[in-house]
Amino acid sequence: MSSYDFDLFVIGAGSGGVRTSRIAASYGARVAVAEDMYLGGTCVNVGCVPKKLFAYAAHFAEDLADAAGYGWDLAAAGFTWQRLRDNKTAEVQRLNTIYRGMLTGAGITLIDGRARFIDSHTVAVGDKTYSAERIVIATGGWPFIPEFPGREHVISSNEVFYLEELPRRTMVVGGGYIAIEFASIFHGLGCESTLLYRGDLFLRGFDREVREHMAEMLHKKGTELRFNSDVARIDQSADGSYRVTLQDGEVIETDLVLYATGRRPKLDGLGLENTNVQLDDKGFVAVDPEYQTSDPAIFAIGDVTDTLQLTPVALAEGMALARRLFGPEDYVPVDYANIPTAVFCIPNIATLGLSEEEAREQGYALKVFVSRFRPMRNILAGRDEQSLMKLLVDKATDKVLGIHLVGPEAGEMLQGLAVAMKAGATKAQFDATLGIHPTAAEEFVTMR
Ligand code: FAD
Ligand code: NDP
Repeated sequence: MSSYDFDLFVIGAGSGGVRTSRIAASYGARVAVAEDMYLGGTCVNVGCVPKKLFAYAAHFAEDLADAAGYGWDLAAAGFTWQRLRDNKTAEVQRLNTIYRGMLTGAGITLIDGRARFIDSHTVAVGDKTYSAERIVIATGGWPFIPEFPGREHVISSNEVFYLEELPRRTMVVGGGYIAIEFASIFHGLGCESTLLYRGDLFLRGFDREVREHMAEMLHKKGTELRFNSDVARIDQSADGSYRVTLQDGEVIETDLVLYATGRRPKLDGLGLENTNVQLDDKGFVAVDPEYQTSDPAIFAIGDVTDTLQLTPVALAEGMALARRLFGPEDYVPVDYANIPTAVFCIPNIATLGLSEEEAREQGYALKVFVSRFRPMRNILAGRDEQSLMKLLVDKATDKVLGIHLVGPEAGEMLQGLAVAMKAGATKAQFDATLGIHPTAAEEFVTMR
């Protein structure tokens, strides 16, 4: 047994930290994990989970309206934001309790408080210090808001989950996952929703056709899209609302401004100066492919490193690292190729593999299959919302290179297809698969 207090000390009990701790403990390692805010990290507390609950809530507006075409006479008597918010918080607290039980049940020492490096093998939490043979930085990220006059008037995704009141008018600034999801959520919950993005089309990096389709759907539903726009300043009016002055001088009045302009690694106060850990040029903790930092005793995983900021990625990295350190016989490196992802806007976007633009840039000769249709459910509902499905196939090998879809439950649909693509599926194999009828997903095996 080593002379250290622990074999492994994990800083941060979010997606990655919890997974690393549990897997390491399952191999018999003596593990401690420190957490200063909330068990389960961003995903459970101010990320995936509460966001998805809000997205479900937002969808009811359409579900209730659509029911009429199916013979149901329903009238929504109203929507109570505080009930949604508080039920969401209760669910998050239930999950926090489960996480606590899961960690302590696995024999892991859970330390409540903010951890700070004293040296490469020693961490302080409050007035106590702990030594460990190895230490993992799994401190995640934090919202980034640029500097501009009136910055103090805006909120980030951290605060949006705890608003006192649901505002009548909302403005979301940004063009990534969080911006699109919250523009949809606000609209679904009945707010006047405006989305402001600095470029000419949001969701940079996604397939262009998907981005255009999504912009069309959001616009049709009633979210106001302002592209090529940026905020110059924000002032608060006497009635508490905000005057947002754009770079071109236009002024928009709103009751809430949510900035969703990316996230940065959470490193402040961590005491990295007391270690040999180095940051990369973007400010993330620099690691090698096995999550080793430039300090031999210290590792880093998840959003604090320059990786895809997704929970399944942090989980996979935590699992791989713990196995490599404590169960090398089970170690399998994370395969970063073809990671599926979904944006939980309404309708959902789900995407996997190369976009058409990337595939062409990489020199592939492509067969492109696109289907745009009104899902069956929307017909009696009288809803003019179209789904988009797109398959990119390499002409030379017939391998599927990219799968992109916009439509109800797109995330649910893509998960199974991701397995097929991981297995190297060809278009011929998609074609040879019989559909499940009537579904929207059968389109993927009937595209010719
Ligand atoms: P985190 O989960 O952020 O955990 C880090 C933990 O470390 C935190 O609990 C923090 O309090 C703690 N910590 C930090 N510093 C210290 C310290 N010094 N001492 C002790 N503890 C410390 N991903 C998806 O896959 N699907 C989604 O639908 C999705 N939705 C999202 C929605 C929003 C609004 C946001 C913000 C993110 C979303 N994500 C989603 C991304 C996902 O939440 C992150 O990729 C994931 O949580 C990263 O896990 P992590 O372990 O690296 O960090
Ligand atoms: P993203 O990195 O996805 O998007 C940031 C957006 O902000 C981009 O459109 C970017 O524009 C814009 N932006 C950046 N800086 C500025 C600036 N100074 N002024 C104006 N606009 C700016 O970040 P998010 O905050 O949306 O989300 C963070 C991450 O969390 C995501 O990347 C994703 O990995 C994860 N996440 C995952 C979800 C899911 O899986 N469903 C849901 C929510 C979050 P430009 O493109 O021009 O650079």
